[in-house]
Amino acid sequence: MFDSSLNPEQRKDDLARLAKEEFDVLVIGGGINGVGVALDAVTRGLKVALVEAGDFASGTSSKSSKLIHGGLRYLEQYDFKLVREALHERELMVSTLAPHLVKPVAFLYPLQEKVKERTYVGAGLALYDALRGFKRALPGHKHLSQKTISEIAPSLRTDVITGAIRYFDAQVDDARHTMMIARTAKRHGAAIITRAKVESLTKKGKRIAGAVIKDLNSKKRITVKTSTVIMCAGVWSDQLHKEFGIEPGYEVKMSKGVHIMLPGEAIKADEGIIIKTAVSVLFIIPWKDQWMIGTTDTEYSDDPSEPLADRSDVQYIIDQANRILSPRISIDQVIGVFAGLRPLVANKKESDTTKLSREHTVDRPIPGFVSLAGGKYTTYRVMAKDAVDMATNDIAKLTNESITDKLPIIGADGYWALSQQVDSLANQYNLKNETVIHLLNRYGADLSELLALIEEDRKLASQISKSLPYLKAELVYAVVSEGAMSIADVLERRTRIWFEAKNFGLDLAREVADVIAPYLGWRAVDKKASIQEYQQLVKSAENSLKSALKR
Ligand code: FAD
Repeated sequence: MFDSSLNPEQRKDDLARLAKEEFDVLVIGGGINGVGVALDAVTRGLKVALVEAGDFASGTSSKSSKLIHGGLRYLEQYDFKLVREALHERELMVSTLAPHLVKPVAFLYPLQEKVKERTYVGAGLALYDALRGFKRALPGHKHLSQKTISEIAPSLRTDVITGAIRYFDAQVDDARHTMMIARTAKRHGAAIITRAKVESLTKKGKRIAGAVIKDLNSKKRITVKTSTVIMCAGVWSDQLHKEFGIEPGYEVKMSKGVHIMLPGEAIKADEGIIIKTAVSVLFIIPWKDQWMIGTTDTEYSDDPSEPLADRSDVQYIIDQANRILSPRISIDQVIGVFAGLRPLVANKKESDTTKLSREHTVDRPIPGFVSLAGGKYTTYRVMAKDAVDMATNDIAKLTNESITDKLPIIGADGYWALSQQVDSLANQYNLKNETVIHLLNRYGADLSELLALIEEDRKLASQISKSLPYLKAELVYAVVSEGAMSIADVLERRTRIWFEAKNFGLDLAREVADVIAPYLGWRAVDKKASIQEYQQLVKSAENSLKSALKR
């Protein structure tokens, strides 16, 4: 077993490994699919390296709806295989693989008509429950009357809502979960490097035999030798195929999805809400003491690196939510916004994105090169297994079966016991119960490492801001163990302050820099550069939001 910590020292060591060693699998991309592949491959006994151009989950995997779900709407498309597979993964994650991060969440499906709609939706939800099979970590669906609804969700309009059906799904902090899978792969021996870009591939005869990687910090290039490359580049797939001179069997279309954040008091409801829209569905999701509402589904063809929400996206979400809410919500209540790009696999570029499949594609256009794209966050483990199975054709050694269905990710082992010891932990470390729960739900059993930091320096037990639950110890841990290398990494992905705080948490940038600088060996000039980088990100996001209503 290796150390799972990701930090500048580890990065240096792993870069040296890239130059020296020969790998079985080189993974391109540190989104959920890439880290899933790295974990699957390394735990089969293969020698694995993963290279990510930005930070973990800096692409789509930090900007999803954060639901681990079967996908109720796929039932309407009769895609029972996809729903069953996703529900199986949901059960596994909630109960065994990541119970500290993946939590059940209740949703109300409001009904506007008394008999026909209730029968139709009720049958759908009964099927949704049945497709789970016999393992059942989450409760089944339940029919609710209008009277019960007005107690649970007083904000639902009684003039249009006649009742509801409650069902359960699960939710996760996607960026955290992705990073923790990368750490799990590290623990089992994978070399993991962020801020390094795969620029080109090298060949031996007709097959891929390696890659040229540019370290984006030092600007130096390294040539890596590998039996196979598995590319998990999401919305960058078309671009990379072109750069590598590879003719793939599919194309990836981009569809933008935006979410907005509202304060808890904006909507009076104890549970989440889902409603159908003309093109898809809208989720009103409880997120800590706030609401996350989304999403949109619009074609996108600009630069994939920084998709931004504009005012028309925000207005669309508000208008849809107001179909069923009273009092109505308004644009002035919006605290935060984030936008992501769905990588949808397609054969023809002209197709309408909402009709494209959410299912994944694994492609092996030439020996030594496999690519994986599409699918849902929820089914990352199954997709990773498929990609590694395909890649084993090019690995000249006997390869074991995938075991990730039995492999709790870091922090999961011991979590259930600790979750029953909140009072004693709070007493022992002189912390509030809610702080211990907050830490348990972010670090699981690795909370002991945070507590050790606090024991060493009590100042680290204080919150970064009164209105946010994050402790200073978490900022330190983000850079010494979780691979964060900038203020943006900390504010956007290790914490979710980017969308949880007003003004994208810009006011906290300086303080975050002060806390993390000594651990990253930053000089004043490095601190200033990271603050400026964050200021620029916030400025772009704000400018986009100010743009005129287009729809
Ligand atoms: P990404 O996360 O984009 O990762 C690709 C990575 O490749 C990037 O980090 C990028 O930096 C890196 N890369 C690119 N080029 C290079 C290079 N040359 N060298 C090295 N690295 C490179 N799914 C669900 O199951 N539940 C949901 O609730 C849900 N909601 C969604 C809501 C929205 C709005 C969107 C957009 C998607 C949602 N999804 C959901 C789908 C899910 O988020 C995606 O399918 C998934 O995150 C895609 O992961 P990925 O690893 O393929 O791509």
